[in-house]
Amino acid sequence: MRSPSPTSDPAADRRPLLHVHIDVDNLWILEDEYGVGAAAGPDAIFDDALPRFLAVFAARGIRATFFMVGRDLALASCRRFCEAAARAGHELANHSESHLPDLARRSFADKEREITLPHEALTALCGGAPIGFRAPGYYVDDELLLVLERLGYRYESSVLPGPACFLMNWYLKSKSAAAAGKTFGRSRYLVAPRRPCLLRARTPEQRASIVELPISVDPLTRLPIHSTFAYKFGTGMVVRALDGLRRAAGPHVYLFHAVDLLDYPAHGPLAQSVIPLQRSLAARLALVQTLLDAIVARFRVVTTRELFAEGDAMQRFGSSASRFYDRLPPLRPR
Ligand SMILES: [Zn+2]
Repeated sequence: MRSPSPTSDPAADRRPLLHVHIDVDNLWILEDEYGVGAAAGPDAIFDDALPRFLAVFAARGIRATFFMVGRDLALASCRRFCEAAARAGHELANHSESHLPDLARRSFADKEREITLPHEALTALCGGAPIGFRAPGYYVDDELLLVLERLGYRYESSVLPGPACFLMNWYLKSKSAAAAGKTFGRSRYLVAPRRPCLLRARTPEQRASIVELPISVDPLTRLPIHSTFAYKFGTGMVVRALDGLRRAAGPHVYLFHAVDLLDYPAHGPLAQSVIPLQRSLAARLALVQTLLDAIVARFRVVTTRELFAEGDAMQRFGSSASRFYDRLPPLRPR
């Protein structure tokens, strides 16, 4: 189903912008988080789950942004997917080299390596540098921003406002002793602004060239609405939240994970813990399609790269919301 609203002239389309993001977290990441084997190989995400995403996006004229983990770019299946996604007009962005669960506590050299390696691999693969980053564990600090600024990044999208990070910390640690060292977000995200804003990193260079694009949450309750939570709370809650977001300027970010459309056995070892895998593939596919239909009916969906190609992106984010980040101590390692 295509959007019912006219999209042939983007300038005439007054709907707020929304970016569809997909975190491409492979099964080895979930294995580490939950301390169990996946009983599936590393190629299934690229050969099975992501082509399904490309098909549902193509059916709706959606161009999305896939956040790629650098370590997987060594896989032929991953590179094939990246090439297919780029041909279809999707954006590839940086989701760190090895999705470290304790990135927050790592040295500057480790953080620099985690951003630089996939940056170089994606640049070589795509013929152009990525401009967007999301950290594993919804975490951002001044050291990460410094590396991103040096590499010319335009946006980072790791902040998940509201209580979501507390909920995810609680859930993961209730399910897995292996998750003890994993960090989700920062406690102050409870009051983080929902609006995008220009980050003023307190770095030696003192530049302010990166936009924070927070992951969208329910505008009334600030509860998370991305796909993982839609399985728990139902699509009705998400659609009501999208109605609320439609009344705000945006741009908004709606987040899926690659595993949402993975064909995985109902009694596979990860199905005990990983929320999406507790549903059948048919049920997950129906949920993703329902959410995408609701999104294209309400928003103008473009890749995040297109937002920055529209010219005035930097001006529109110079808002007071950045005061939150200026007052966020420590934007230094914890
Ligand atoms: Zn991830």
